[in-house]
This record gives sequence, structure tokens and C-alpha cells, in this order.
Amino acid sequence: MKTFANAREAALEMRPDVPVYCFHPAVLAEDARHFVGAFPGKTAYAVKTNGEPFVLEEIARAGVKAFDVASPAEFAAARAAAPDAELLYMHPVKAQSDIRLALETYGIRTLALDHEDEVAKILRIVRGIDIDPADITLFVRLQTKGSAAYELSKKFGAAPGHAVELLQRISGIGFRPALAFHVGSQIEDPEVYERALASADWVRSRAGVELAALDVGGGFPASYGHDPRRKKPDMPSFDEIMERLRADLVEWGFSDLPLIAEPGRVIVARSVSLIVRVLLKKGKRIYINDGIWASLSDSWTGKITLPARFIPDPARRRRSGDPARIAPFKVCGATCDSVDILSRPFWLPETIDTGDWIEIGHIGAYSLALRTRFNGFYPDTVVRVEKPFHAGEKPEGFASLETMAD
Ligand SMILES: *Cc1c(COP(=O)(O)O)cnc(C)c1O
Repeated sequence: MKTFANAREAALEMRPDVPVYCFHPAVLAEDARHFVGAFPGKTAYAVKTNGEPFVLEEIARAGVKAFDVASPAEFAAARAAAPDAELLYMHPVKAQSDIRLALETYGIRTLALDHEDEVAKILRIVRGIDIDPADITLFVRLQTKGSAAYELSKKFGAAPGHAVELLQRISGIGFRPALAFHVGSQIEDPEVYERALASADWVRSRAGVELAALDVGGGFPASYGHDPRRKKPDMPSFDEIMERLRADLVEWGFSDLPLIAEPGRVIVARSVSLIVRVLLKKGKRIYINDGIWASLSDSWTGKITLPARFIPDPARRRRSGDPARIAPFKVCGATCDSVDILSRPFWLPETIDTGDWIEIGHIGAYSLALRTRFNGFYPDTVVRVEKPFHAGEKPEGFASLETMAD
């Protein structure tokens, strides 16, 4: 991996026509250690957020000893990057062959579910390969309600009454019963964890079984940009959210249980920035060489305003517009698909033009992981960059990070 001092230097030296991911390992290590230090239990990184080997290896080196995995490819990636780490198979709906692979080949002993047929599936395989159910922890995924950029409870999770039955069934068979929830990704309401804990407490008291652990999932928000025309969202900082979660865990009587969290976004978002090139400027639109089918689908579906920094091409001699005027540019993606237009503009100097570059910050989560080969575009160039996005000069205008805009 080539190393540059910062993204601007990488852009000016490489003059890339393809998107370039700028990886900041020190930031990844810092954010991983910060989470591990703040959470009063086991940190299991959610591999789906960014499963690149260089990311998993850095996270393991930073002291994360467990990984939340959901598929055979994720078992293999996590095992290869961190051979001694524990794998938690937290997908509630699994193929039989994948359960067998997890138990038999990978030695996984922790799984999640939200339905009795999944219990039956797991039990059949456990009996078939002669494992003692008492060696296996089954997390019942509890449905939660709340506000997040991604609401995941619509798809998974047992309603509280159903979760009670599942815990009793699991315990009756001889498995170790445990409780999990996942409030969604990029939470927009700090109360969601407390509501989920209240619900977990209700389930625990009705079930009357001794829980082996509680898993509070992911959802911890990363910091992005904000639209100056809208009210700045009033969100507490990560440290404040975590402090409150710790207090709520005590208050609801969960602090003596083994605890697990499955952070994804909050650990990797800051560790990657992305250099994209303006292929064409057409009025207040810019056409770039990336888009919703490559690195930017999360910002599209999650309606996230990405922080962006202008990297002018020095080869362009003539520019029009006022360099001090920051304007919203509609961003059109690289493919021929007409839906490939970002849902939020980039805020950039009026003078931006064809051939210039843009460094997009905080793009480490759900970017490389969600790339497709649609239309033949597949960004795959990664460089190492010493100065991370947030430590660089203040990005232009209001596409800047909330903390920097202050
Ligand atoms: C995606 C996912 C996570 C990670 O979510 P973030 O919002 O990125 O922290 C954690 N747990 C489960 C079960 C998930 O599906």
C-alpha cells in the first residue's frame, strides 16, 4: 500500500481518474481502542461494516478480541485477520449448511435467533455433530423500536412475549439463554438504548431463566456533515451516549451480566476518506467517478450529508465563480442509471470544475463493503494516508464536520 502525507498529496501525485480510498490506520486504532475502553463488556466488531483484511487486522491489533460475523465469507475473513479472536454468529436467520460450518469448522459457540424454527434447526445440527448444548449460548434477538437512519427491527427480532417463550424453550433444552437487541444503524435518538433495556428487563423477569449475557448491538452514531439550511441535529457525543448507556445498564440491573456490544460504523467511519474526481460540471450539478452503486450507497439510503474537501486541479488555469462562495452541488454518480444521484448535496466552492478532486471524509463504514460491479465500475485502489481527514485544514463551507463547523 503506497503512503502519502495527506489526501491532497495523493490526488496531486496520482492524478487519479478512479476513486481512491485513503486509509488512516492510526485513526482506526484510536477509535477501536476508544470504544473498547468506554464499553463495560466485550467489543465484537460487526464485520459487515468494513470487512477488508487491512481493517480487520488493525482492529484486532488495537485490542478487539471478538467479531460479529454473519456468513461463511465473514467467518473466513475474521479468522484470517485475527486467528485467536472469538466469532459470534449473530445473524438471526441462517442456512443449515452455514450453521454446521460455524459449529464444526470454526468452533463458533455463540449464535442468535428470533424464532423457534431456528432453535430446531440449530438443535438438529448440534445433536448431529454431538455437541453439548450447555456449551452453546443462544441469543434471542429482541425487537426494539426507535429512530435511526436505518431501522432494523422491522426485519428481525422477536416481540417481547415471543422472546419470553424462546428463552424458556432454549433454557429447557439445555442451551445457555441470552438476550440481544440491535437498535438500528446511526441512531438519531439517544433514548433507544434505554427503551431497549427496559424491554429486555421485562422479558428477563417474565422468562424467569438465568441469562448468560446481554448484547446491546451496534447503532452508535459516527459524525458526518450537516446541511446548513436545516437545523443542526441535537445529538449527544459518543462519550455522552456511552456514559448514559453505562448508567442505564446499572439502573436496569444488567451491569453484573457479561455484556457485549457490536459496533460497526462508529469504529471505522473516520478511518477512511475517499478521493473522487469531477468528471463534468454542469451548472449546479457535478458528475463524479463514484456513486450509489459503489462507495456512496450508505449516504444515499441513510440521507447522510458527507463532509467534503475541495482539491483543485492546479492544471486548470481559468475558473469562474467566487472561491469564497460555498454552494450545494447535486452529485451525480458514475453509472448510466438515472437513480444514481446522491440524496444530499456536497457543499463546495463555486469555482469547482471538471477535473478537480474532492476528498470525502468519514466514509469507512458501509462503503467498500457495499460496492457493486454495476456498469463495470468497481473502485479498488487503496492508499495509506498519514494525516486523516479531520486533522486537515478545515473543509470548505458547510460540508464540514459538525465539530469543525463550530
Ligand atoms: C449491522 C449490525 C451491527 C453494526 O451496526 P452499526 O450501526 O454499524 O454499529 C451490529 N449488530 C448487528 C446485528 C448488525 O446487523
